[in-house]
Order: sequence, then structure tokens, then C-alpha cells
Amino acid sequence: MSSASIEPWDLPTLDAAESHLRQSAFRPFHLRNLINGDLLAASSDCDSIASFNPKTGQQFASVPNSSPDVVDQAVRAAEQAFPAWAATSPSLRSQYLQRIAAGIEARRELFAVWESIDQGKTLARARVEIDRAVSNFRYFSTYILHQETHARWTDTNILTYEHRSPKGVFALISPWNMPLYLLTWKIAPCLAFGCTAVAKPSEVTSVSAYLLATVFQEAELPAGVINLVFGGGNPTGSALIRHPRVKGVSFTGGTATGRQIRRDTVDEIGKYLSLELGGKNPTLVFEDVDLEKAVATAAAAAFENQGEICLCGSRVYVQRSIWDAFLPRFVQYVRTNYVVGKNVGAVVSLPHYRKIRQYLTIAADDPATVFHLGSVPVETPESGYWIEPSILTVSDSSCLLKDEIFGPVVTLTPFDTEREAIEKANDSEYGLASVLLTNDGSRMRRVGEKIDAGLVWVNSWLVRELGTPFGGMKASGTGREGGEYSRDVFTTVRTLHIPQA
Ligand code: NDP
Repeated sequence: MSSASIEPWDLPTLDAAESHLRQSAFRPFHLRNLINGDLLAASSDCDSIASFNPKTGQQFASVPNSSPDVVDQAVRAAEQAFPAWAATSPSLRSQYLQRIAAGIEARRELFAVWESIDQGKTLARARVEIDRAVSNFRYFSTYILHQETHARWTDTNILTYEHRSPKGVFALISPWNMPLYLLTWKIAPCLAFGCTAVAKPSEVTSVSAYLLATVFQEAELPAGVINLVFGGGNPTGSALIRHPRVKGVSFTGGTATGRQIRRDTVDEIGKYLSLELGGKNPTLVFEDVDLEKAVATAAAAAFENQGEICLCGSRVYVQRSIWDAFLPRFVQYVRTNYVVGKNVGAVVSLPHYRKIRQYLTIAADDPATVFHLGSVPVETPESGYWIEPSILTVSDSSCLLKDEIFGPVVTLTPFDTEREAIEKANDSEYGLASVLLTNDGSRMRRVGEKIDAGLVWVNSWLVRELGTPFGGMKASGTGREGGEYSRDVFTTVRTLHIPQA
């Protein structure tokens, strides 16, 4: 096989992938859109976007920046496929989803290797996310076999029941932090409930979706049921969500983009929007905790995947009575267990590196700041976008307490009372997730039920059961996904009223 014809698909281990990328003759892979069942080379009206390996800073892929015409082609393919797909039985759709799950699982290492190279995450972290992508398909493949719906009788004995049907073509748009996991969290329920789709991953991390296209082909999904278009937020994402034949949008990404999508679809009142947006999540540490366990949970919540998980707890509030005991243990634990290059990956891109650096520079310029760990990284890294975990105390008015940084940066702040802890936790425009660390059973509910967050984890973090509602409050979004909540996203309900004959 000539070097030029080798694809990521042909390089299933880290050794094979890295040695291929090191070859002097290496040329970036050219990703192709999946439209109507075919992988198509970029059309002449599309420019391309360079995709970089965050661990080295080298370009390794070229992503088509799909034009509105290409998006239109994909939406029409999905629209054409919709009536037949919507009419298939749940058991047939279930079989397709099982085949897709098996196809990813059989190439777990291939997906993990390329997810790690594309996003910067560690290989260990990538493996976890690939397993969760498999679970997304498995979960919805069985969910649709056991659905329940409501039936009621009026007092005049009229039977009423809810009938659900798939909404139609969906736009599925995902961000760069957990590329395959978040994209499949949308694709699996969308297909399971009988909708067809055009999906667009982030332009920064498109490779795992490109690999997934081949799995779809191997699973012999009918042409057009799922289409993948690559490209930037503008033109590709924007053309997709605004397309008049798209009936719904399931979007995960930043709050600013969520607002833009709202604005761009404001006149299409019937277009369904599910928006999973940003977060600035609090971790509350009460004085009654087991310190060692609390330190480990708070650290994982802060620094897993370099802090690039929307659910990361980047504001840690510690009860003052244990502040002096917690702080040095936390710093030491992070120093030992979150080592850059070992269990902390590189941040996703140079612009993101610079954004994180800018926040650390602002903090360093403020005399009220204390760096307990970490420092301001250099402006232009020589090789790869590596940032050491940073633990800071900052002034109450600091933007580091307000803005989503989305990197390995955490603030620590003391509090005195339970009430103050709740006020501080809720002092944010966001309301996605939170961690509550306490051994007091009554406090778990007393505080947990007052935190403005769609997800509250008590003495735990990132635990997921795929039937539970997932989503945020306030600027973290609208809508919930998971189990029956995903069914609400992808199906429309009509209520039938049938009198006794
Ligand atoms: P962005 O909002 O920048 O991008 C998300 C996706 O939207 C990308 O595919 C992007 O394309 C696309 N996009 C950008 N502009 C538009 C537009 N006008 N119309 C349609 N699509 C568009 O987010 P990031 O990729 O930077 O991801 C980080 C953000 O995602 C953080 O705020 C994080 O909190 C949030 N997030 C939320 C989660 C949740 O469940 N609530 C989970 C994970 C992340 P492109 O990248 O090609 O520009």
C-alpha cells in the first residue's frame, strides 16, 4: 500500500499510527463526507481546514469545510431516507444499532488511538470514551424494544393514548472535548427512534466520526439514514441548523453558539431545539467529609481530560474549618496523580491553549491571586499544547470564578456556612453540574435540592445511567436527553381520543 493511500482506518495501534505520522513522506489524511451511503471527496466549492495533533502541534488531517450546497445534498439524502426508516420495526432498528455497537467495539483500540491523537486526551481516557460510545448504541438498541406509553380513560369512558412518531431529519452537532462519545449520544437515539440525520462533529476533532462512517457502511445502514458532513461552525454548522427541511437540532457546545442557533432559527417556530451548553460547575466540600476521598473526587472532577469536560468542577468551595487540612492534600494529590504527558493530555488546539493561558495571565497579574500549583505557560509552545494543572485562590470578583475556561485550571475558595456554600455555588450564569461532598445524609438532600444544576453528584462524579435526564439549567441549556427524555427529543406526540364503539 502506498503511503498516500493509507488511511487512519489502516493504522489500528498507537505504534503503527505514530510511526506513520513520523514518516518524512507523510501527507495529511483527507477526510471525506458520508452522504447517501458514500464517502465523497471534498467538492471543488469547499476549502479545507487543517487538523492538528495537540501532542505535537503537527498537522495530520485535512477536513473539508463543507459548503451550504454540500449540506443541502446531505439533508436531502436524509429526507429521502426518512419515510422508509421511520417505517422500520423497532427490532430491525435495534439490530442495526447492535451491529454498529459491535463494529466500534471490534475496533476499540483503533478508535481510541485516533481519538487520543486528534483531541490530545490520554489513550486511557480515550478508551473509556470509546466504550461509552458503544454503550450509547447498545442502550438505545434495547430501549426501543421495551417502550411504554400513557393511556388514560376519561370519566365518560373515552380511551385516550399517546401515539409517537419520529420527527424527521435532525441536525446533530457536537463539540471537540469528547468527540465520539458526544456524537454517538445523539446519533444512537436519533436513529433508534426512527429519525434520519445529518451530523457534524467539531472541525477540530472530526477523525473518529470519519472512522464511524466506515462502521455505518459495514453495518449496511440504508443509504441516507445517517450522513456526516465535516466543516466549521460557519458555513457548515450554520447552514445545517438553518436548513428548512431540518425538523430538529440536537446541539452540544458552547453557550454563545447555543444563543446563535436560537437566533438563527427564531422564525422556524416548529423546529425543535435541544441545547446542551457550557458550564462552570461548583464542587462543595463540607467539613464532615473523609478528607482523602474528598480530595480524590474533587481532583478527578477538576482535572480529568485536562479539565476539558463540560461537567468538570472548576470552582471548588471548601468549608473554612477544614481549609488548612484540605488545601495541601489537594495540591499534593494533584501534583502526584495528574502528571502532564502521563495522565494529563494536551489541550485541544493552539487557540484553546492561548485562551487558557490568557486566563492564567489575568490571574497572575492580580495581586490577590495565589498559585498553589501551576504557572502561566509560554505563549508559543515549541511542541504540543501542554498545560500543567493549576490550582489558584483568586479574588471574589475574578473572572476566573465566572467564565468557563475549559482547561486544567481550578479555583479554591473558602466558605463558612451551608447557606453561603449554596449562594456561592449558584452565583453563576450556568447550571450544568455540581459535586457535593459530605457524609451528612440530611445535608445531601438539603443542599443537593437547592443547587442550580441539572446534575448533582453526591460523593461521586461523572456517574451516568443512560436513562436519567441529562442537561443543564440557566445558560447551560434547554431540554434533557437520555432514555425517555431522548424519546421526547426525537419523536412527536399526538393524543388520540377514542370513544367506546
Ligand atoms: P462550540 O460551541 O464552539 O462548537 C460546538 C459545535 O458547534 C462545533 O461542531 C462547532 O463547529 C459548531 N458550531 C459553531 N458555530 C456554529 C453555528 N453558528 N451554527 C451551528 N453550529 C456551529 O463549542 P466547542 O466545540 O468549543 O466545545 C466546548 C463547549 O462545549 C464548552 O462550552 C462546553 O461546556 C460545551 N459542552 C457542553 C456539554 C454539555 O453536555 N452541556 C458537553 C460537552 C461540551 P466548529 O467546531 O467546527 O466550529
